[in-house]
Amino acid sequence: DFTNKVETIRKDFPILDQAIGKHPLIYLDNGATTQMPTAVLDALSAHYRTDNANVHRGIHTLSERSTASFEQARKTVQSFVNAMSSDEIVFTGGTTDSINMVARAWEDRVKPDATIAVTALEHHANFVPWQQLCKRTGARFEVIPLTPEGDVDLDALGEVLHTQNVSLVAVAHVSNVLGCVSPIRTIADMAHEHDAHLLVDAAQSIRHENVDVQELDCDFLCFSGHKMLGPTGIGVLYGKRDILDELSPVRFGGEMVDKVSTAETTFEEPPLRFEAGTPNYSGAIALAAAIDYIESTGRADIAAYEHELTAYAERALESVEGVRVLGKPAVRAGCLSFTVDDVHPFDLATFMDKQGVALRSGNQCAQPLLHEVYKVQNVTRLSPAFYNTTTEVDSCIDLLARTVAMLRAAR
Ligand code: PMP
Repeated sequence: DFTNKVETIRKDFPILDQAIGKHPLIYLDNGATTQMPTAVLDALSAHYRTDNANVHRGIHTLSERSTASFEQARKTVQSFVNAMSSDEIVFTGGTTDSINMVARAWEDRVKPDATIAVTALEHHANFVPWQQLCKRTGARFEVIPLTPEGDVDLDALGEVLHTQNVSLVAVAHVSNVLGCVSPIRTIADMAHEHDAHLLVDAAQSIRHENVDVQELDCDFLCFSGHKMLGPTGIGVLYGKRDILDELSPVRFGGEMVDKVSTAETTFEEPPLRFEAGTPNYSGAIALAAAIDYIESTGRADIAAYEHELTAYAERALESVEGVRVLGKPAVRAGCLSFTVDDVHPFDLATFMDKQGVALRSGNQCAQPLLHEVYKVQNVTRLSPAFYNTTTEVDSCIDLLARTVAMLRAAR
């Protein structure tokens, strides 16, 4: 079973084999970024060593190789998310970039009486661009509340869809704080019934859930390479072809144009229309290598193992005095956040780091969720990946219990 494979898998990730001070690194901050396996580092390096040239420009050999690998990467992404066509895959700088592009382009389509609906658990990346769009256009910004367990309240969403002229619903597939999984297909059906579009923030889900855009029936889906074993600075915007066709570009420059004259400019078809300038082709090529790695490891196995490891950590945390885990969703897909009575998350994360454990502390870029729903300022987050072991989680919880006791005694 998968547990027996983890030791072998760990050998693929050179960064994991190091000490922080005298302590072995225990990296449990995968919600912020994941590490790259050798296969991805090698793909990146090989591209720069042998094939590097700007894409879509030259007719020389290196440019042709570079372009072929870049366009092959687009096909790899297409198949990974099961898009109907590779024209539906736009390479961007990351999730934030993808969402901002849609929010800018959506401006043309928003009528003054329209509503943009997000949920109370969104990352700032899927909250602020919509709020700002509403400020620019006069549209209404509606925040869908959560159930007491921390899942999106579908009744409340239904009510908003029924009573307001909703243009677009933006929702995270997996929360980067609670780890809960939103029922995207249900939300898509609800939105479409009321002629609203759906954008899915898949930043946290893409690494391990089976993200199939046709099955989810979302109109847009956004994710980042660095949260799925790829490098930073590369991301994806999936959009249904007919919708991308209707959207105006929001960035202008080379490669996205068809004819340019002093009088007028015409634009390329999607996806090139949305990729102004030199794209991050090396990032896209490395992202494709990350996808190959994930697929050969087994997406379903990764998801099951990560869910199990998170549940294991949650059970173990119960033994630490004063710990309160936020929410109680049916599934925690790879992360959980908690507070500890009388202990500041920054102190906790700092002392844990001194013992080799990487945890995230802060507001997790989800201030509305923390401040307005849970009424806490900051939390500590533990987010395992499939290269983490139960032994590491045990050590983490053990060190956490001692650190909490030490910080409490020092008060
Ligand atoms: N949405 C969610 C749910 C996230 O977890 C993150 C990253 N923490 C983002 C969006 C933003 O991703 P990026 O910083 O790669 O653009």
